[in-house]
Amino acid sequence: MAVFGTVFMPKMALATFENEQWSKTSVVDAQSIQMHPGAHVLHYSSTCFEGLKAFRHADGSVNIFRMDENIKRMAQSSRLLNLPAIDTQQLSDMIIDIVKQYADEVPAPPGSMYIRPTHIGTEASIGKAAAPSATSMLYVLLSPVGDYFSGGAKPLRLLLAEDGMRCAPHMGMIKSGGNYASALGPILDAKSKVNADQILFCPDGDVQETGAANFVLIDGNEIITKQLDTSFLHGITRSSLLTIAADMGMTVSERELSVSELLERAAKPGTEAALSGTAAVLTPVGTLIQDEQEFSVGTGEAGPTTMKLRQALNEIQWGQAQDKHGWLTKV
Ligand SMILES: *Cc1c(COP(=O)(O)O)cnc(C)c1O
Repeated sequence: MAVFGTVFMPKMALATFENEQWSKTSVVDAQSIQMHPGAHVLHYSSTCFEGLKAFRHADGSVNIFRMDENIKRMAQSSRLLNLPAIDTQQLSDMIIDIVKQYADEVPAPPGSMYIRPTHIGTEASIGKAAAPSATSMLYVLLSPVGDYFSGGAKPLRLLLAEDGMRCAPHMGMIKSGGNYASALGPILDAKSKVNADQILFCPDGDVQETGAANFVLIDGNEIITKQLDTSFLHGITRSSLLTIAADMGMTVSERELSVSELLERAAKPGTEAALSGTAAVLTPVGTLIQDEQEFSVGTGEAGPTTMKLRQALNEIQWGQAQDKHGWLTKV
């Protein structure tokens, strides 16, 4: 399988906002878009995106996971970035129609069709550093993907970063390009210096998230993760896993978790930690690194509760378990 995210379906759905209104959706070549080099997004980062997946079931149907939640989050990101308000019904139709068009190309589990809605400010004006773009473009790209973090994947190594942060605190809940650019330098440093896979950002000792996934700690029957605030991304996988954990009778604790409590709990043999996200699903964390010191989480291997939660989520997505919360949209 090609590298995650590098293969695209040849067409995409596209709409533009001009003269205070959205155009009709068109289906266009996904090869290129036309934009003025002075476009707002290229200078002032007026951009947000989403990531969700469509799954093929054994009956041949194609089902999108929690689409409404992703659309809601994109509407929120657009609003917080002062991009034109998206038409949520139009975006829903764009996603469903383009996925339908490529229904035959949706890989069977553990693969899926990754869906990438993108919203960018297109106004040609380099004088608008402190003003919103009056025009924008919304498009939906499709990329078939395999099971990126499949079985053999080694548990991740995370560097705990207590100074600095992933992005400005009021930007954390916006899925916006600049936040990833902001985190890239520290992540590359962590890779080269301590061979970490990711940084776990813990500003002032408060355990938050990594560059593109949420963090959960599992201690016996309890699953612990930071309570929602504006400083980090409100993952839809995170919320789904917490619901599944509660369904399984686990205690769900959404609260502050300090680095010292994390390390204390991680030292116990039964403790597990994992990253959650649409791409990661739930990927085990085996090692935490603080300064030069390394700490195993529990046994340092993928834990049974992590794998059980991951499996339960996959079974709903793949149509192998009842979708009792109504998370799937059949295209
Ligand atoms: C996308 C993302 C997540 C995970 O969100 P999901 O909705 O679960 O895919 C977590 N953190 C960051 C920074 C992200 O960009």
